[in-house]
Amino acid sequence: MIKGIGAAAGVALGKAFVLPHWELDLPDSEIDAVDLAKEFERLYEGIRTSKDEIEYIKNEFKEMVGDEESHIFDAHLAILEDPVFMNEIQGLIERQYKAAEVAVKEAIDHFVSMFDLLDDEYMKERAMDIKDVGNRLLKHLLGAPEVTLPSDTQPYILVAKELSPSQLAHLNPSHVLGIVTMSGGKTSHSAIMARAIGIPLVSGIESGLEKPIQTGEFLVVDGDEGYLYINPDQVVIDRYTGIRSQQLKKKEQLQLLSSVEAVTKDGTYFRLAANINSLKELDTALRNGAEGVGLFRTEFLYMDRNTFPTENEQFEVYRQVAEKAGDSSVVIRTLDIGGDKQLDYFALPEEENPVLGFRAIRISLDRKELFQTQLTAILRASCHGKVKIMYPMISSVDEVRQANEVLKLAMADLDQRGLSYDPDIQVGAMIEVPAAVMIADLLAEECDFFSIGTNDLVQYVLAVDRMNEQIAHMYHPFHPAVLRMLRTTVEAAKQAGIPVSVCGELAGDERAIPLWLKLGVEDLSMSPLSLLNVKHRILNTDAKEAEREAEACFKLRSSAMVEERLTLFAERNSSMSKNGNPGSSAS
Ligand code: PEP
Ligand code: MG
Repeated sequence: MIKGIGAAAGVALGKAFVLPHWELDLPDSEIDAVDLAKEFERLYEGIRTSKDEIEYIKNEFKEMVGDEESHIFDAHLAILEDPVFMNEIQGLIERQYKAAEVAVKEAIDHFVSMFDLLDDEYMKERAMDIKDVGNRLLKHLLGAPEVTLPSDTQPYILVAKELSPSQLAHLNPSHVLGIVTMSGGKTSHSAIMARAIGIPLVSGIESGLEKPIQTGEFLVVDGDEGYLYINPDQVVIDRYTGIRSQQLKKKEQLQLLSSVEAVTKDGTYFRLAANINSLKELDTALRNGAEGVGLFRTEFLYMDRNTFPTENEQFEVYRQVAEKAGDSSVVIRTLDIGGDKQLDYFALPEEENPVLGFRAIRISLDRKELFQTQLTAILRASCHGKVKIMYPMISSVDEVRQANEVLKLAMADLDQRGLSYDPDIQVGAMIEVPAAVMIADLLAEECDFFSIGTNDLVQYVLAVDRMNEQIAHMYHPFHPAVLRMLRTTVEAAKQAGIPVSVCGELAGDERAIPLWLKLGVEDLSMSPLSLLNVKHRILNTDAKEAEREAEACFKLRSSAMVEERLTLFAERNSSMSKNGNPGSSAS
């Protein structure tokens, strides 16, 4: 068994198809000065063909998984128009008389090694995009055949050194059972796409391999745990065949719960809302029974484009989300960029410690014109549904007050333009920085609601970078310090009489339900894919028993002890794995 990274969930069993690694070895050929014009014409022709091809793939992929993920190919098109990349290629042809393909290859190598050197996962992934686009261009310049995937054979598990987004877009999900890649992590575009299509993916297995995997070898891919088995024995095959059929059965049964209320066995009600990045995700959320949107991460509207979205562009999206959510509320979080989320066109300064740096509300309060535009768009959408505003990364009372000043300006502007909005719109703060927890009582006087962002809160409380794989084993949402932070925040909110919800990943972790019951948190917001799982667990929970369990957890001294206790409790309450019944209220 080899341990890699579980980058897209699910289990797959089948034969390997190993994608040949296409490393081009080009002779360093030069051209005559008289042929310069001809060489440029060849280059431009190659670029035109590559662009047409990318547009075609983009549309195909859009059909398959929708608009959001297909924008990845806009980034590819942008590379072919990038003046720095293109100047490098043209310079090599013009000044060093390199043949077009040699110039392209050298430019790819130059930028890829430059990005690879940076200790930044995001830039490493962009290096992969440049390689992907560059190889496409090279293929056209050389007339080399494309590596094709078997389409008419038995479904297979695709094994590749790396898998580029365009290769992934060509995959037919009904032919590909799972994917294994030598490198790559959870944040790569390919991993995002694999998750969107629902193909299990284990990446980063290269260091664990004793010899290369061969086409035809039997593989078991465990995308949940990040395990890969090569030619395993029958015991492993039987175990995973069992797990796979259980997963499929569970998925079907859980879907029956979508319209069932999330109520414990003894009648405690939860409101389960969704975290979304786009309008399209809201459809999945509503299909899975989400009661509104607890966190709309608006920064994704700002990504994969070349300029800031205008007020009208933003308004259109917010309006549609509000209308689709109907009577349920939609919490729109203002721009949360910086740290791991960057915008190509917004040159944020290089920072020593980006997650402690210029990000989220700090940027909004620095670039007030951008902030006001966003607030105006949200306010306009507030007439079309139950819209609320939420500020990210609040660490002081002053920040809330300053943000509210900008909100007032946005309202005054709308008054002047004669446009309507909800003047009583609720305004809340994310509680995701320890300082905010410690002054939660003061913040509660300034806010209409709190939402606890456990992803960042865990990072900041434990001083463990949430993006750093090397210390991922220290990132403990069940750490006693985190539990105390949760308790302090909820107590402050209750004392002030304002609602408090949880919208970090912990809200979607079914094991945490006893904690919410004990604390008295009934609003949870999570990834649309977690909704049914959490609801199933709630339906099978006895609130009184769970509260006793949580009480004990609050007294424990280590994350491991809390996690173990909550895991055992969740397993004891899982009726479905024992009798196949999805939950008492659904039957
Ligand atoms: C959080 O920090 O918990 C959160 C929900 O926000 P994000 O993951 O977008 O930082
Ligand atoms: Mg956050």
